[in-house]
Amino acid sequence: MITDTPARALGPLLHEGKAKRLYATADPQWCAVEFKDVATAANGRRQVQLPGKGGLNCRISGRLFTLLEQAGLPTHFREPLGDGWMLVRPLRMIPLEVVLRNRAAGSLLRQLPIVAGQPLEPPLLDLYFKDDALGDPFLSEARLATLNIVTPEARVQLETMARQVNSTLHQALARLDLDLVDLKLEFGWDASGQLRLADELSPDNCRLWDGRQSPDSPGRSLDKDRFRQGLGGLVAAYKEVNHRIQALDHLQPRSHDPGQGIQ
Ligand code: ADP
Ligand code: UDP
Repeated sequence: MITDTPARALGPLLHEGKAKRLYATADPQWCAVEFKDVATAANGRRQVQLPGKGGLNCRISGRLFTLLEQAGLPTHFREPLGDGWMLVRPLRMIPLEVVLRNRAAGSLLRQLPIVAGQPLEPPLLDLYFKDDALGDPFLSEARLATLNIVTPEARVQLETMARQVNSTLHQALARLDLDLVDLKLEFGWDASGQLRLADELSPDNCRLWDGRQSPDSPGRSLDKDRFRQGLGGLVAAYKEVNHRIQALDHLQPRSHDPGQGIQ
């Protein structure tokens, strides 16, 4: 159900996923994304309605896409629409989930003998095949080559951009006492053949630890782990992230910051 229709006329529904809906607009250059008020885990098998979550994820994503654009990294984001809606460029999506890990957490702890929170330097980059029916399997080099999803050149371009996105966000969020532990990125090609970051940048697809809380505090996770681990307080945590992120507008660049953050 469309609850808060943006002022702009919507075209047909193009895609409905677990957390968002994509609509065509009157202008084929742009489509509208609606962020749903739902939290999902276990590949959509666990779901709960959380009023306010969609609007928060949309505001957080819009602010972080803008930060990346200002740092010279192309994204699909154009502008916010109504609450919980944004206008984006429709892309030909690459069916990969690109996961960057700055610290060990989540599935890595279940798969490797590694200490929770251990810093990973350089950040670990893992590729997964985006396919719900197959459970988004991890891709080895050989499996990636077998699937022939991207050319070797496009893969280098994609991984370089993914690392730049991660380092830009990691630096910016650290200034807000938000430790970017890991994040999942999706990319696609626009009509002119430009690679762009797509989807969303929110606590649904990253782990954020609160630097203002002690490491053993249950309040440290400000991300979807609150739902995965049944900790509660997800909307309050996302509100706190949104509150801090809006302060990015008022932070002066640090004298030793290299430009806007790309390294
Ligand atoms: P999922 O499909 O994983 O359940 P969502 O509910 O977030 O996830 O649905 C959003 C879908 O839209 C995803 O499949 C994502 O790959 C796709 N998508 C994100 N940004 C764009 C874009 N700019 N153009 C086309 N598709 C996009
Ligand atoms: N992630 C995501 N979508 C997925 C899988 C993972 O957004 O389908 C994010 C997740 O929120 C975390 C990062 O990618 O920030 C790494 O996830 P991990 O591999 O640890 O898996 P999880 O613990 O989520 O099962």
